[in-house]
Amino acid sequence: MRMAGRSAPATDKATDKAAADRAKAAADRAKAAKSRKIESVAAPERLVVAKPPARPDYPRYRVDPGKPIRTADIDPDESEGYQGKADVTEQLALHRNRIGDLQTRLYAEHDRALLIVLQAMDTGGKDGTIKGVFRGVNPQGCQVYSFKVPSADELAHDFLWRYHNRAPQAGMITIFNRSHYEDVLIVRVKNLVPEEEWRQRYASINEFERMLTINDITVIKFFLHISRDEQKRRLESRLANPDKRWKFSSGDLGERLLWDDYMAAFEEAINTCSTDHAPWYLVPANKKWYRNLVIARTIADTMEAMNPQYPPAEEGLEKITVPD
Ligand code: ATP
Ligand code: MG
Repeated sequence: MRMAGRSAPATDKATDKAAADRAKAAADRAKAAKSRKIESVAAPERLVVAKPPARPDYPRYRVDPGKPIRTADIDPDESEGYQGKADVTEQLALHRNRIGDLQTRLYAEHDRALLIVLQAMDTGGKDGTIKGVFRGVNPQGCQVYSFKVPSADELAHDFLWRYHNRAPQAGMITIFNRSHYEDVLIVRVKNLVPEEEWRQRYASINEFERMLTINDITVIKFFLHISRDEQKRRLESRLANPDKRWKFSSGDLGERLLWDDYMAAFEEAINTCSTDHAPWYLVPANKKWYRNLVIARTIADTMEAMNPQYPPAEEGLEKITVPD
C-alpha cells in the first residue's frame, strides 16, 4: 500500500508493473477469444489441411451431421492398409509427441480446453486407448473421469449435473471414460427411465455441448467400434488369463445379449448428436494399434488447429539478472 505524501518504494513499483502486465495479458487474451470464430473452437480439425490423406477425405471417420451412419456399414477390422502394429509404431509415437507438445501450450495459454468423450461396448478398449494415446502428456494438465452407475446423490440431480461438474477448466484436457451418453445408451436399452424422458435428452445433450463450445471448450467424441466376435474373443481372453480376470464382470455377458439394442442406441445417439460443434468419430477398433493411431492423430490434428499459444512474457525480462 502507498503512504500519502511519499514516493512509492521500488518494490511497490515493480509489483504495480507486474499487475499491469498481467491485466494487459488478460485483456489481450479476451480480445483474441472474441475475435476467434466459433468454428475454430467447435471444429478446429476442419482447419487442418496441411497434409490430408488422399482418400477418404480428411478427417477420417467423422460422422457428418445430416448423413446418418449405420455401424454395420463400418468395418471394425479396417486398418487403412496397415498390416500390423510395427507399421504404425513410429507414427503413433509422432502423434503422441504432438499431443504432448500441444498440451504444454494449451496448459500455458490457460484459456481454452479440450473435452474428449470415449464410448464403447464392454471390452471396446476405452482404458487401452487412454493408456496408449496419452502416454507423454503431463499428468498435471490432463484429467480422466470414469463414469459408473450413478450414486443416489447423482440420481437426485438432473442427468447432466455430474458431467457438467467435471467439464474441463481452462488449460486442461479432460477425458470422459463413459459419459453423458450413458443416459441415452444403457438407460435406454435397460428402460431405466421412460422413453419420453430419455428421448428428450438428445436435444439437451446437443445444447449442453454447444454451451461448452461457446465457453471455449472443444468437444470431440469417439465411438470405439468392435465387432461382436471380437468382444467374444476379448471376454474369453479375460477369463483365460489370471491377470486379466479382475476385468471380467459377469454383468458384461448380460449386456452382450443386448448387442443389437445397444447398436441401435449408439446409432441414434451418434446420428442425432454428431453436430458441427461436437463431432462424433466412429473408429474401427478391432485392431488396437490402429484404433490408437486414429485417435491420437485426430486429437493431435484437433489440437494443432486450436493452435494454443504461450502467453506473452512479462516485459523487460531481458534486463533481469537473477541475484546470487
Ligand atoms: P468399464 O466397463 O467402463 O471399463 P468397469 O468395468 O471398471 O468400467 P463398471 O462397473 O462396468 O466398471 O462401470 C460401468 C457401468 O456403469 C456400465 O455398465 C455403465 O453402463 C454403467 N453406467 C455408467 N453411466 C451410467 C448411467 N448414467 N446410468 C446407468 N448406468 C450407467
Ligand atoms: Mg465394465
